[in-house]
Amino acid sequence: MITRKSTIQIGRMRKAGAVVGDTLRMLRGMIEPGVTLKALDREAEKLIRSRGAKPTFKGYHGFPAALCLSVNEQVVHGIPSDRKLQEGDILSIDCGATLDGWVGDSAITVGVGSIAAELSQLIETTRASLFAGIGAARPGNRVGDIGAAIEAVINERGYGIVREYCGHGVGRQLHEDPQVPNYGRAGTGPRIQSGWCLALEPMVNLGGDDVMTLSDGWTVITRDRKASAHYELAIAITDAGPEYLTLTSQDEYP
Ligand code: MG
Ligand code: MG
Repeated sequence: MITRKSTIQIGRMRKAGAVVGDTLRMLRGMIEPGVTLKALDREAEKLIRSRGAKPTFKGYHGFPAALCLSVNEQVVHGIPSDRKLQEGDILSIDCGATLDGWVGDSAITVGVGSIAAELSQLIETTRASLFAGIGAARPGNRVGDIGAAIEAVINERGYGIVREYCGHGVGRQLHEDPQVPNYGRAGTGPRIQSGWCLALEPMVNLGGDDVMTLSDGWTVITRDRKASAHYELAIAITDAGPEYLTLTSQDEYP
């Protein structure tokens, strides 16, 4: 069942989204060689709680931390460890915060120090594919239009698209209907309605599409061990089009 949120409810989601956006901005400023993943997780949880919110991921199906931190060939759901970031790594930071019962969910991928040109291009394409998907997320379009828009940007570069995980509705729950795949055929799927809140989140691989889960039960990696990038933004569908819930403008998106 896909729930439509009222204007008041969307206002609450905007507040939860602001906590996530501020946390990601703070973390972005901390990224440098030598920083441990656990240190990032600790600071994120501190900031989230200082705003009266809860880290949504902590305890979600038993996940042990506030952030999902996924380095290089890790795609999503990496568990913060004592691993130190190294020059040339890329790090996906996925953050969720629940404020007054409403969830914000957003992710960025950041280079550590100076990174290879092919990794910068991967990150930039992933970000561009997210905003292409957002552009298609308007009333009257269909869910397949979002996936088709995301996929078109990724295909242009010949990158792999992760198919096992996808975007989703978001609201009182972290994961609500509908599922929003990062690929698809335009003109197919449910018709998009105002009041829907969606988290779009393309996961893009330098190599092939295939992924696998490590024995920790969480960390998803590319099967060919090539790098992967991830961007996510929660949006509300309004009659005027998509509204960002974690920021005020695209330029502000780190
Ligand atoms: Mg997320
Ligand atoms: Mg998500």
